[in-house]
Amino acid sequence: MRAFEYREPDTLEEVLALLHDHGEDAKIIAGGTALVIMLNQRLIMPSYLISLRKLSGLNSVDSVDGALQLGALVTHRDMETSPVIRDQIPVLAETYRQVATLRIRNMATVGGTLAHADPSQDSPVTLMALDARVGLTSSGGSREVALDEFFTDYYETVLQPDELLTHVQVPLPKPHTGSIYLKFLPRTEDDYATVGVAASVEIEPSSQLCRECRIVMGGVASTPLRVKEAEALLSGQKLAPELLHKAASVVQEHTDPISDSRGSADYKREMAGVCVRRALEQAWQRALA
Ligand SMILES: Cc1cc2nc3c(=O)[nH]c(=O)nc-3n(C[C@H](O)[C@H](O)[C@H](O)COP(=O)(O)OP(=O)(O)OC[C@H]3O[C@@H](n4cnc5c(N)ncnc54)[C@H](O)[C@@H]3O)c2cc1C
Repeated sequence: MRAFEYREPDTLEEVLALLHDHGEDAKIIAGGTALVIMLNQRLIMPSYLISLRKLSGLNSVDSVDGALQLGALVTHRDMETSPVIRDQIPVLAETYRQVATLRIRNMATVGGTLAHADPSQDSPVTLMALDARVGLTSSGGSREVALDEFFTDYYETVLQPDELLTHVQVPLPKPHTGSIYLKFLPRTEDDYATVGVAASVEIEPSSQLCRECRIVMGGVASTPLRVKEAEALLSGQKLAPELLHKAASVVQEHTDPISDSRGSADYKREMAGVCVRRALEQAWQRALA
């Protein structure tokens, strides 16, 4: 591991000043679960490591204008156990519960996961299906980016070297909406997903027709993949087996998985179709309940 300077600023302003001065040569460390591995493997060799340990104010879940605002330093375990999350957006607690082991969930943060941008991670898939937005701040100002536009490639995002991801805003689900995250992992329970899918379906209660739906896949492309073509098929339709089969075929056409230790590209594409069918059916049932 190459030598680096370790900084533990106390305030957001100090973090942003350090990123302003050294952004290209610096790395933020939040939970450290991904970063330390990358340092050990010399995949990254920063001159400065900026720890967020001492920062306060980025580790709470707050209600803001019809949304929940998740601080970047909220841990996976917090997300899994938070009474507010469980009550208002339970699919988020269910999703974070499925990540790795308790030890990792105790350390890994909401912001670190998004900035890491591994397309096999779980929570980005659900957050995108819920139409979440991220807050990015630099010493020059702040901006909000829809998660749909945040990921650009494997481990790549629109985050600039001088920017910190400060929070995620998740709109509260509309009435008569059902959401689900399904993780398909045939190896061990603490593995990354072979395929992940999040579906969110809003129905018109009297007719039971689909008003709006979002379908997002993980593990089948270089970023979490929203399949708008399949979403469009469902709009204005009633839940029926043929419709789910059609949606599954459209999803399979749009996935571009790579073969790796978790399965061949063909296997992942096949399972993407199976998982989407199951996810849509379960999300729809939740919307009807
Ligand atoms: C063995 C193992 C199994 C895992 N399995 C899964 C799994 O099945 N599903 C899953 O979803 N996840 C899984 N994870 C966790 C996941 O892959 C990442 O390790 C974790 O989400 C990163 O969060 P962190 O807070 O530890 O980030 P860190 O490791 O601290 O940082 C990760 C990256 O994000 C940057 N960063 C961190 N915070 C910010 C910020 N606020 N603003 C800007 N940049 C920032 C860092 O500079 C670094 O580049 C697993 C991890 C391990 C080690």
